Amino acid sequence: MKTYKLLTPGPLTTTDSVKQEMLFDHCTWDEDYKQITQRIRRELLQLAHVDETAYTTVLMQGSGTFGVESVISSVIPDDGCLLLLSNGAYGERIAAMCRYHHINCVHIVQDYDKMPDRMKAEEALKQHPEITHIAMIHSETTTGILNDIQSIGELAKTYHKVFIVDAMSSFAGVDIPMHDWHIDFLVSSANKCIQGVPGFSFIIARRELLIASRGCARSLSLDLYDQWAGMEKDGKWRYTSPTHVVLAFAKAMEELQKEGGIPARSKRYAHNRDVLIEEFGKLGFLPYVEKAVQGPIITTFLYPDTDFDFAQMYRFIKERGYAIYPGKLTDKDTFRIGTIGEIYEEDILRLAQIMKEYMERGN
Ligand SMILES: *Cc1c(COP(=O)(O)O)cnc(C)c1O
Repeated sequence: MKTYKLLTPGPLTTTDSVKQEMLFDHCTWDEDYKQITQRIRRELLQLAHVDETAYTTVLMQGSGTFGVESVISSVIPDDGCLLLLSNGAYGERIAAMCRYHHINCVHIVQDYDKMPDRMKAEEALKQHPEITHIAMIHSETTTGILNDIQSIGELAKTYHKVFIVDAMSSFAGVDIPMHDWHIDFLVSSANKCIQGVPGFSFIIARRELLIASRGCARSLSLDLYDQWAGMEKDGKWRYTSPTHVVLAFAKAMEELQKEGGIPARSKRYAHNRDVLIEEFGKLGFLPYVEKAVQGPIITTFLYPDTDFDFAQMYRFIKERGYAIYPGKLTDKDTFRIGTIGEIYEEDILRLAQIMKEYMERGN
């Protein structure tokens, strides 16, 4: 089989050394393994610039969505109400979770190329005093827009609401001072900017709020408090843990530190994005969102005017060593390029060269 690198926003291209960690079938109940779990939990707090007295980490089996659903279904009480600010498919997924779990939700839908509006959010808070929680997406992977969670965090603080952030595709790729930005629950997963492989998500939570949510969960396997209680005691996962993934993740965390932590990684990603937009611009591709709101994780490009066949282009690029991502908009024809993972400037330049060959070819 011909291999390729992923230019997708998770799973993403990992290092060989991360993959290598998975060649060992580790036992789950012994002290070594529990210590690895505890170390990961502690180090994730450091990445979020918070400490163990006020915050804590829960690791949860499953992909990122399981982590988000665990929070949504576990921490909003029956008499609570969620203010959801969405501008893409991942925000809408949270609305779907509310429907499944019969959670009251005030949903403000924003155009996909704009950030959620702080004034509209504030109006909703005034109009609906029953709101107890606010949720939004940081990096909306649907478009690549990077939302301003800091300003909504200020609003949450002013109005005394619990603030839940899906930072799935941004955490560790963009610096997030969780306490300063008034985030109470932050969700991300193993296979995004920490550059591990898929298999679990993690939740960084304000300790007192997590403890207060005890008994509130609507699902057994996604019960956030229960998962935490066992882990907090001695590092034991409640049900079978993805051992290989956990070992790979521990290695990925080490490699993140070696790279220079979040400052170095976010710089590399942003540079990848800058080179991508510049090189693709030369070929006539325009990004879907404006520069001021474009995040470093993934960029959505509009199809050029000519009749453009994504499937054909995808095949052409894949045969030359890279896998890209289709668009996710319903009203516009787009495709997406992720700039995270073990990807460097040379990859982006190579991709641009392949794209140039593709454009010059048949037409
Ligand atoms: C990747 C991602 C998720 C989780 O998706 P899974 O397919 O469950 O891993 C959630 N939110 C955002 C913004 C994402 O980018």
